[in-house]
Amino acid sequence: MSTTTRTAVVTGAARGIGAGVARRLAADGFAVAVIDLDEAACKPVVQEIGAAGGRALAVGADVSDEQSVQAAVERIAAELGEPTVLVNNAGIIRDNLLFRMTPGEWDAVMNVHLRGSFLMTRAVQGYMTTAGWGRIVNLSSTSALGNRGQANYAAAKAGIQGFTKTLAIELGKFGVTANAIAPGFIETEMTAETARRIGIGFEEFKAAAAAEIPVARTGKPADIAHAASFFASEGAGFVSGQVLYVAGGPKS
Ligand code: NAP
Repeated sequence: MSTTTRTAVVTGAARGIGAGVARRLAADGFAVAVIDLDEAACKPVVQEIGAAGGRALAVGADVSDEQSVQAAVERIAAELGEPTVLVNNAGIIRDNLLFRMTPGEWDAVMNVHLRGSFLMTRAVQGYMTTAGWGRIVNLSSTSALGNRGQANYAAAKAGIQGFTKTLAIELGKFGVTANAIAPGFIETEMTAETARRIGIGFEEFKAAAAAEIPVARTGKPADIAHAASFFASEGAGFVSGQVLYVAGGPKS
């Protein structure tokens, strides 16, 4: 089977990094399921992919909800094709210093990043093992190394790395690879939200971040999409269980 007949699923793909990954995988030849909480919000990305000659499907689903995930994956298999590429990208932040962090903020972040990646991967892996081919790409972060105000997010993103390595070990014999991408500062609504929270303009926030990054700029969704494209490619079958920091340098 060639890439042109394979189906990829990208979660949290209505905007930001997920939208960039969806566009790139479509350009690579995959049929792409664009999942986000709000199905209507996925439509512009799907239309863009269609206009560029690709094939995509908008799917509304909450990755942290078991029934929602099951229904979404069954619909994708029926309407687009049985998925053999999964990019677990959906994410949220609920930043706070530890002494102020509520159990609700802790749980919300764990539920989307960890429970969401678990539920999605469990729902899709059967199609991959049956096909004898699969590619799982999970979004970690440089925050996995520790980041002030992000005890919940850092723990989730470090957890994603252990999850990824375990998937690589369990699924390797079925032709399935699992890798993680750990982005540094990427220009999206998530980083814009952080700028708003700490009360500075986004341009100023980006400039301050760029001053600390060896390549002297902040990242864009396309930078992450390029790494995802590599991990999803036919030729990357001997690369598994890896964490690739895409951060413009060795640390964010
Ligand atoms: P973003 O712009 O906030 O986009 C995230 C998307 O995920 C949103 O469309 C959001 O939908 C969706 N989402 C949230 N909860 C969901 C759920 N339960 N089910 C389905 N979709 C859900 O974020 P981003 O910056 O592109 O980040 C994408 C991934 O990269 C995340 O995992 C993030 O942690 C990671 N990352 C980002 C950066 C960065 O600098 N931006 C750095 C390192 C890692 P709503 O809009 O409806 O909430």
